Amino acid sequence: MADLRELADDCVHCGFCLPACPTYQLWGEEMDSPRGRIHLMTQVMEGAALADPVLEHLDRCLGCMACVTACPSGVQYDRLIEGARAWPLDQPRSVSQRLARAAIFAVFPYPRRLRVLAVPLRAAQRTGVDRLITRGRIARRLPAGARAALRLAPPPTRPIRLPELVPARGPRRAVVGMLTGCVQAEFFPQVNAATARILAAEGCDVVIPRGQGCCGALSLHTGRADEASSLASDLVDVFGRTAVDAVVVNAAGCGSAMKEYGDLVAGRSGETAGRRFAGKVRDVAEFLADLGPVARRHPLPLTVAYHDACHLAHAQGVRDQPRALLAAIPGLRLVEVGDGGTCCGSAGVYNLLQPEAAWELGRRKADAVRAAAAAGAELLVSANPGCSLQITAALGDASVPKNHPAAHNRAVMPVAHTAEVLDASIRGLAPTALVKL
Ligand code: SF4
Ligand code: SF4
Repeated sequence: MADLRELADDCVHCGFCLPACPTYQLWGEEMDSPRGRIHLMTQVMEGAALADPVLEHLDRCLGCMACVTACPSGVQYDRLIEGARAWPLDQPRSVSQRLARAAIFAVFPYPRRLRVLAVPLRAAQRTGVDRLITRGRIARRLPAGARAALRLAPPPTRPIRLPELVPARGPRRAVVGMLTGCVQAEFFPQVNAATARILAAEGCDVVIPRGQGCCGALSLHTGRADEASSLASDLVDVFGRTAVDAVVVNAAGCGSAMKEYGDLVAGRSGETAGRRFAGKVRDVAEFLADLGPVARRHPLPLTVAYHDACHLAHAQGVRDQPRALLAAIPGLRLVEVGDGGTCCGSAGVYNLLQPEAAWELGRRKADAVRAAAAAGAELLVSANPGCSLQITAALGDASVPKNHPAAHNRAVMPVAHTAEVLDASIRGLAPTALVKL
């Protein structure tokens, strides 16, 4: 704990981080702020039990890293919360929390299991059984996490099988590996297809190794360090068989975890390979902005609002690149979601483990997106599959009361990934390819 103690001591208790913290915004409780949580961690390091209520305040943290951006003293809260979440508990979590965690981690880090689970889910969606369950009496009997999962589940999509190599169009400028991901591959295969196309259009050979597993992000951000480390080692091995200049990632949460692989696999036999791999990881917008465009952009007359995914903006510092890529598309107008980039409540599996808080944050984000729609936005752009699921579900929430300020505009705004917008422009597609409702 010595390292964590030093990190906690960097906090000078100024409180500048408090207004940026979504859970402090929700409840106004010091112990649900970054400063309060650092204080609690310090107490545990001095011998206090890691049990409720301390555990509850730490579990309620989204891991959104808005506090890292806000802190003038450079406190590395990301390392603190990851470290604290890996501590052994002095009291087990509630039965419902343990069951929820067991169910989530029996499925999410395994793309094949996620694929199997999607089959009955899609059958329920096609037959309308999911709506019957979420709106009927059965809903009240379901655990809150299960209700949240049904509410978040996206409509069925057609699977897309990508080849192992998508060759560069025109002269080759780089060879890149591409992560397909778990949630991205299963629920947003069109985002992976668009990512491969734009990279190829910009002169990259795109290597998509078979046998890629989970990157370990969800495990890392939930304190399952050993599991995360093992998944990281497997992924490093898979990409280690390729010779690529960069590993491109189109999911913010995955990219931020993969950039930490050097620390995650420290002490393991593959540490050197892990550090080399981490040094090659780039978010797709970050990579394309550095590479510079060669593919022609066709006009795309569309007003889009850009949503900052926390693990892209706060954890990776990638804010300007996606905006610059979008703004360079002829005819496209960019507007901001005017909530200062507050977390939408997705936060990995937070919306399944803390569904009430996540849902309130989702509602607030939906209000901010509706305000952007009132300013002309026709499409929301998000670079993280979790955010896309969360915001889409929140925008479609029929529970907005009639007297709610946003009740005049309940329409669901379509959500797309930055890669899909660039792809539509490069291919000369009409805006309707992105905004069909
Ligand atoms: S984390 Fe940073 S901003 Fe927050 S109280 Fe500590 S020093 Fe101040
Ligand atoms: S990571 Fe987010 S939720 Fe957690 S303390 Fe920091 S700002 Fe608050």
